[in-house]
Amino acid sequence: MIRLTDLHKTYPARRGSPEHVALRGIDLDIAAGEIVGVIGRSGAGKSTLIRCINLLEMPTSGRVIVDGTDVTTLAKRDLPLFRRQLGMVFQHFNLLSSRTVYDNIALPLELAGASKAEIAAAIDPLLPLVGLEDKRDRYPAELSGGQKQRVGIARALSSNPKVVLCDEVTSALDPETTRQILALLRDINKRLGLTMVVITHEMAVVKQLCDRVAVMDGGVIVEQGAVDGIFANP
Ligand code: ADP
Ligand code: ADP
Repeated sequence: MIRLTDLHKTYPARRGSPEHVALRGIDLDIAAGEIVGVIGRSGAGKSTLIRCINLLEMPTSGRVIVDGTDVTTLAKRDLPLFRRQLGMVFQHFNLLSSRTVYDNIALPLELAGASKAEIAAAIDPLLPLVGLEDKRDRYPAELSGGQKQRVGIARALSSNPKVVLCDEVTSALDPETTRQILALLRDINKRLGLTMVVITHEMAVVKQLCDRVAVMDGGVIVEQGAVDGIFANP
């Protein structure tokens, strides 16, 4: 579903700060339906990797194949359609405080020009999937952290993506809520057959959620393999 080949990203020098090499030759294959964790300390290049998959950053060189297409060759006008195949879930939820749960989840569809009926058809099954049927008309300020992240997950699923990219999605949550959100993501992966890329700095997230893991350091993948293999105790 996703194939990264010899991916490099250098942020150009700007206002006194020198250029910065963030990715130096990443090769990664992610099969359809797989949950792959990308783990590494702060500054390892994890966020840059995800932003090169959704093309929020253009790679300096290398290929990003998503579902058979090298997306680095897409014309600018094709990017919105491409990005709709990718759901994004964020650490700090990124909800709009002036919008209800329902209207937050609807936002990507509204931006894509979907009709009210199309939006309702997409969202009605998502609310029970993430356990928010009774919160649809609430505002973010009325929700717990875990509930806010459920809204973030439903919003990521609203455009029926093939791939979901998760960036530190439990880092702002307590341990019990973290456990519940990871179980929800696992359940969604099983039910919908989605491919997931999960950025984290926490081993526990990888162990509970992921099938495979890539360990990043200094802009390269230093190790990758099945979660059981990499974390097996000697
Ligand atoms: P974290 O390790 O917590 O993810 P980062 O240092 O990677 O934090 O950066 C957080 C955000 O700041 C990122 O979205 C990144 O784009 C931006 N950022 C980081 N370093 C720079 C920099 N040197 N110049 C401009 N933006 C930066
Ligand atoms: P991680 O997500 O693993 O913390 P990032 O991908 O955010 O790592 O950052 C990798 C490196 O690239 C860091 O040293 C960071 O400071 C730098 N960086 C990230 N974004 C930018 C940016 N927009 N401009 C310049 N440097 C950046």
